[in-house]
This record gives sequence, C-alpha cells and structure tokens, in this order.
Amino acid sequence: MSIHAPEYVRKIAPYQAGKPIGELAREYGLDEASIVKLASNENPLGMPESARRAMMAAMDELGRYPDSNGFDLKAEIARRYAVPQDWITLGNGSNDILEIAAHALLQPGESAVYAQYSFVVYALATQAVGARAIVVPARDFGHDLDAMRAAIEPDTRVVFIANPNNPTGTFAPAQAIEAFLASVPPDVVVVLDEAYNEYLDPGLRFDSTQWVRRFPNLILSRTLSKAYGLAGLRVGFALAQPELTGLMNRIRQPFNVNSLAQAAAIAALGDADFLERSYEINRQGKARLQTAFDALGLQYVPSYGNFVLVRVGDAAAVYERLLRAGVIVRPVAGYGLPEWLRVSIGLPEENERFLAALPAALGR
Ligand SMILES: *Cc1c(COP(=O)(O)O)cnc(C)c1O
Repeated sequence: MSIHAPEYVRKIAPYQAGKPIGELAREYGLDEASIVKLASNENPLGMPESARRAMMAAMDELGRYPDSNGFDLKAEIARRYAVPQDWITLGNGSNDILEIAAHALLQPGESAVYAQYSFVVYALATQAVGARAIVVPARDFGHDLDAMRAAIEPDTRVVFIANPNNPTGTFAPAQAIEAFLASVPPDVVVVLDEAYNEYLDPGLRFDSTQWVRRFPNLILSRTLSKAYGLAGLRVGFALAQPELTGLMNRIRQPFNVNSLAQAAAIAALGDADFLERSYEINRQGKARLQTAFDALGLQYVPSYGNFVLVRVGDAAAVYERLLRAGVIVRPVAGYGLPEWLRVSIGLPEENERFLAALPAALGR
C-alpha cells in the first residue's frame, strides 16, 4: 500500500446496509413492484403526507444554504420535549450524532464501552477516531448494565447504549438505565440511543429528558428515520446539557441537516396521527410475526422495536432463498449471529408475503 492511512482506519469493516430493492431487481431480474423489503427498519407507511407538503413548500429556497442553526426545527424540538434550545444538536440522521459524539470525546489512547450485539455504528465511530473498543458480553441478547459499569476503565470516555437495541430488539427498563447513569463516573459520557423509543408500549415509556437535567454527562440520541418515516432525508438530534452540546456543535458540519429535511422534520414531529398509526401497525405486525414464529417453532428475541431477530439455522442460505422469492431481510452474521435474521415489520400484506415464503426458505 502506497497510501498512508492509519492502521485503525484500514481495520474498519465497512457498514453493510440492507439490500436496496433496485439492486435485487437488477441481480435477479425481478419486478421492483413485486419486491418486499424488510431489511432496514424503515417505516412501512412511508413518509408522512404532512412532511411531503412541508418539503414542497420549502423547495423554492433550495438555492440558499440551510439554516446552520436549524432555528425552527430546534424550536419545535424544544417545545415538544420541553427542553431549552441550547440542549439540542441536530444531526444528519442520528448516525451523525453518534459520530459527532465520538469525534468530540474520543482520541487514540482512550476507550469506549458498548455491548456485544449492540448497534454496529458504535464500533465504527469508535474505530474511526482510533479509540479502543471495550465490548461487554451481552446477557440474554441485551445490555448487561452491571458488567458494562464494571468494564469502564480509567481511559474510558464514552459508553454507548441502545435502548431498545438494534439488532436484538431488547429493552432495559427505565429504573435499570437510571441506576446505571447514577453509577457511572461523572467524567464518562453516556450516549443513550433511543432510535426506537416511539415504538415502546405506553406503559414502558418514560421521560428520559429528566435524566439529561440530572446527569451533565448524558447525551440522548433520537431519530426521525424510524417511527417518523423520514429515513431517506437523514434527520436526528441529540439532547444534552450545554457543555456537551457546545462540544458537539464544534465538531458538527455547519450545514449537516439540509433545508428539506429541516422542513419535513418539523412537520413530522407535529404529526401525532401519523406517529400513532406507525405505532399501531407495528404493534399488530410484531404480534403477527412472533405468533407465526411460535407456530413454526422458531426461536426469536421478543422485540421492543420495529423488527424481530429470529433464529433460522443456516441464515445465509435462508436469506438467499428469500431473496429469490423477492423478500429482502437482514443477515446479521457480521454481528456474530450467523444463525439469525433480522426481519423488519412491514405492512400486513408484506408480513404475509414474508411468512408465505418462509417455510420453503427454511427447507421445510
Ligand atoms: C436506525 C438506528 C439509528 C439511526 O439511524 P439514522 O437513520 O442515522 O437516524 C441509530 N441507532 C440505532 C440503534 C438504530 O437502529
């Protein structure tokens, strides 16, 4: 190699996204309209109509740069979450938030703690800045918070937690997270990634902004990509006290959230009706998939998100046979789960297409 790149960059295993519909259509000669994609935890309802209208209205201003400070979007977030504006960092998706946090807080010689089977971007963000990863073995596919607390070393600067977690769908109740936050040294930052928060049953929801008030070392991360249906636009945000928010804003690209995305996000955040429909279709679809897995005798991890992790045996072969049937799901061998597939919850007819193709794909 003649190009000098840091060894820690060469060692990164690139992110593997869910297979796009167009790619499967090209590779297998299938009609795009016949393909069902349950691979990227997208909202099966698509984007909200309210967001589409807001984007159309914003189109005329695209010759100008976006508002670098995202004033109107921050005002909407501040109102909705009852937080001050100087707690808010906007991100190009919450993936951006995770990377901004890593860049702002980590350097070579320091470490980040995260759980086995937790969201792969924690590993990518940690490696990209040359920091060391401390990967804590999962317990029942979820975060072992006691072990994570014990794994913190003197050079640890950040702990990443996904709640609910992707790809396993596990959830740690509010009391467990709160006890963890109270036990972490105050100079170690906890990034609490709540990408699937809106899918929690009402009885499990809790106001995590209270914790931001109480813990100056907490960053909450939220996204508009899942329940709000705006994955293609890339909008996420962080809530943290002003010191951490100020650090993240130094690292953030000045125009990281584009004008259309800002307009759409404001509309989507205010669209309670769309959010409720997203929750409800997910609740019913999840019950349908999990019941079907029970009937097939397949092991799965009961999910708190908009997807289910299911054990199918030779997952690479099952994945391939599903592709041939026009159904895209997500292999998770890269997570060390070669016998499992992650299936996003779709519209009722999409779930049925998947379930109809599954027995043959399993070789039954
Ligand atoms: C999908 C996901 C995200 C973020 O997605 P963005 O589209 O970048 O906002 C963040 N964390 C977890 C755990 C996710 O599954």
